[in-house]
Amino acid sequence: MIEPGLATAAALAAMRGAVAAGVTPLELDALAEEAIRARGGAPNFMLEPGYRHTICANVNEHVVHGIPTDRPLAPGDIVALDAGAVLGGWNGDAAFTAVIPDPRDPERTAELQRLSDVTEQAMWRGIARLATAKHLNEVGEAVSGYVRGHSDYGVLEDYIGHGIGRSMHEDPPVFNVPVHRRGPEVKPGLVVAIEPIISAGGIDTDIEDDDWTVTISDGSMSAQWEHSVAVHAGGIWVLTAEDGGAAGLEPLGITPVPIP
Ligand code: MG
Repeated sequence: MIEPGLATAAALAAMRGAVAAGVTPLELDALAEEAIRARGGAPNFMLEPGYRHTICANVNEHVVHGIPTDRPLAPGDIVALDAGAVLGGWNGDAAFTAVIPDPRDPERTAELQRLSDVTEQAMWRGIARLATAKHLNEVGEAVSGYVRGHSDYGVLEDYIGHGIGRSMHEDPPVFNVPVHRRGPEVKPGLVVAIEPIISAGGIDTDIEDDDWTVTISDGSMSAQWEHSVAVHAGGIWVLTAEDGGAAGLEPLGITPVPIP
């Protein structure tokens, strides 16, 4: 799963380098597809029945499964960009959030950046916990514990992480909140997508008339970060980060170990 992970990382890097006011989500979609195909992969979101794009682009109160549009991103937007690649029959899946700065409203820009930062840090706490966890559901305790300790944001419960491998979405579920089961044992061979989705307000969601785009019911802004992470005999490795997750994990005392 190393190669599809790196193809997914390349798609995110291409979008990270381009996302700005005036750029459309459809343009980012094309860049992501190009990056995945350049590494010999194919976009796996397109394999979902009825979905035609490489990415999901979730702007503002759109929270997941947003179809990329030709509306240019504008100052003051927050956008979560989610992409995945299939290569050699194996999958990668990852997402990041970007804030388009609004020079006329630095306060809003700072608030949105904080929403993204708390979500990203919650993801890294979840990944770090995977490195030491006995059971998978400890990840949700780490994710929600960080969010609750640093904000009054809501942790969505309707959309969660998942196992990933031959299919993009597999068992086991990866909860972002504590649940009354320990979940499967964390052991070599487990590969999961850890993806907290956080709302600045309520956590209830609705599905739009396009049957894809999910919005926060109360119109709150939202953020999503995601990585696909492998557990192996030597430790954990973030498959969808070029550095295996070192930059995010080392400040938390976890050193990712390359897969032999
Ligand atoms: Mg996912």
